[in-house]
Amino acid sequence: MDTISARCLMCSKTYTVDESHKDYKKLVAQEKPVATFICDLCNYRVQHESEEKHKPKKPM
Ligand SMILES: [Zn+2]
Repeated sequence: MDTISARCLMCSKTYTVDESHKDYKKLVAQEKPVATFICDLCNYRVQHESEEKHKPKKPM
């Protein structure tokens, strides 16, 4: 399986992304030794945070 090194723009961690990742082709298209992307963890965090802002807080 082909892999590419990519650094997350948000947490600055470097990941090895394999070709099954949804952004793999985009990363290859950057034609850089280390491509940049937003990792799954940060992606999740951003989505979660924006949801929190839009939704009213549920009572526990
Ligand atoms: Zn990240």
